[in-house]
Amino acid sequence: MNENPAFGAELEPFMGIPTFMRLPATRDLAGVDVAVLGAPFDSGTSYRSGTRFGPRKIREASLTIWGHNPTLGVTPTELLKVVDYGDVSIIPTSIDHTMNAITKTASEILETGTTLITLGGDHSIALPLLRAHAAKFGPLGVVHIDAHLDTWKDEFEFVPYSHGTPFRYALQEGLIRKGEYIQVGIRGPVSAAEDYEEAATLGARTITMHEVMEKGLEAVLKEIRERMQGPVYITLDIDAADPAYAPGTGTPEVGGMTSLQLLQLVRGFRDLDLVGFDLVEVSPPYDPSDITAHLASNLVFEFLSMLALKKQK
Ligand code: MN
Ligand code: MN
Repeated sequence: MNENPAFGAELEPFMGIPTFMRLPATRDLAGVDVAVLGAPFDSGTSYRSGTRFGPRKIREASLTIWGHNPTLGVTPTELLKVVDYGDVSIIPTSIDHTMNAITKTASEILETGTTLITLGGDHSIALPLLRAHAAKFGPLGVVHIDAHLDTWKDEFEFVPYSHGTPFRYALQEGLIRKGEYIQVGIRGPVSAAEDYEEAATLGARTITMHEVMEKGLEAVLKEIRERMQGPVYITLDIDAADPAYAPGTGTPEVGGMTSLQLLQLVRGFRDLDLVGFDLVEVSPPYDPSDITAHLASNLVFEFLSMLALKKQK
């Protein structure tokens, strides 16, 4: 029986307070396997803002997700206790304060043994999340799905942190295991060839969208499985999807993955030792029909399903 009629799986999707998948909203993590956390921060954005509205809209889109995943053959909420933890208390005008708040909240959750799924927010939130996860698990393997490299030098003079730089600092801070940082879906015009060279020098294996199409998803997944030697963190920028499928994002790039390709890619991570996941850059003001938010909420569901498979093993 539902303990709290304000939300719950028994309600119709249009009823109640919109928590992620109508799961209980709580900060009591006793016995909780997975917490969904919002990080509604978009002041690290360089072009169109609006991702501060992302977590709320993704939650709303998730209300139509029922429990069973027929493709992976698993019902995550039967195997895992999952809760909606609410949002990090961010300050929209201070990236430094916000990054510290994200690391602190994430660390408090991870300390209880709960796995964390974070909804962005722009991609600057990945650095404080990686700091918290690396503090718990040691240096991580990272799969970074994105149209953009996000390993840029300081994008704005005197301001190191933005949504274009998180992985430069994650690599420099030693949060990622050597040789186990893979970018997938990268494309679009950059300022110079050096952007790619720099990413490689920092330690990235960049699999461009062109390479994905030439080799196919299975070959890409095979390489990822072969490279990863320990705990893996997945960071997914929704602009990896083509703007036809995910228009609601701040920095759209044409020629990306379809919704189905992105779902297939994420499902392909099921054999990895997954320890964390974030989904960023959903910008509801640019999202007609909420299609980007629906893709995002379903990608989170795929990740939850893989955590359920991990627990089943
Ligand atoms: Mn990004
Ligand atoms: Mn991007």
